[in-house]
Amino acid sequence: MTSAPLIVITGASSGIGAATARRMSALGHPLLLLARRLDRLEALGLPRTLCRKVDVTDRQAVAAAVREAEEAYGPADAIVNNAGAMLLGRIADQDPDEWERMIDLNVKGVLYGIHAVLPGMVARGRGTIVNISSVAGRKTFPNHTAYVGTKFAVHAMSENLREELAPTGVRVVVIAPGAVETELLSHTTDERIKRDYRAWKESAGGALDPEAVAQAVAYAYGQPPQVTVREIVLAATGQEG
Ligand code: NDP
Repeated sequence: MTSAPLIVITGASSGIGAATARRMSALGHPLLLLARRLDRLEALGLPRTLCRKVDVTDRQAVAAAVREAEEAYGPADAIVNNAGAMLLGRIADQDPDEWERMIDLNVKGVLYGIHAVLPGMVARGRGTIVNISSVAGRKTFPNHTAYVGTKFAVHAMSENLREELAPTGVRVVVIAPGAVETELLSHTTDERIKRDYRAWKESAGGALDPEAVAQAVAYAYGQPPQVTVREIVLAATGQEG
């Protein structure tokens, strides 16, 4: 490919997704940015960027936005499945609606993103699927039961998909960050758990800057097509767990 190809980023209205959008745009890529807060996507002010208000739990809407962006900018060469929620809670007293929301978004949303781009990538014999999992996709943490379930699923699905796609030339990358300074915790509804989490983060000397995760995405994507960075695990140096 001669000019930098299209990259799709879900959950680009804040945190890791916004940082990744800025970085990939700076590298010259046209972008499709998806999230529910369209104003926040547009406020990034990135060139050659299509911003669409899409809830990634809506499979048809994800596919339609990808089609529209591919018509404008050519085939998607990568998708960063980043949209996610962390609703911490104890299973005994957490509202099951919160489990459902995380499963729909963190698990099914990732599959919908993959589904929208994969047939084209396989046909072209190239492409990169980047799934944003978590250190909580590798080990457990207090009050994380439903969330770790979704992130272990992202790890497992990614590894299985990588094996499935190895002969096709399509790469699958997992990025597994520790705590990152974003809006993620703000959606947890249990105030005591939120306080404890903030205290834990402070005791570790603070969390990663989202830019560090964006850099990891760019590094993995930037490898030659015959090289797959299967997984990057990164966390603040002071984070023990
Ligand atoms: P933020 O809360 O800052 O960002 C989450 C993004 O997901 C927002 O852009 C939000 O946009 C989007 N989003 C949420 N729900 C939907 C939806 N239904 N449809 C479309 N977009 C949606 O958190 P982070 O940047 O931290 O999170 C990004 C990813 O990183 C998540 O998958 C998270 O699990 C993972 N992660 C985060 C860590 C951290 O400590 N922050 C650590 C490890 C992993 P909008 O609300 O506008 O729809």
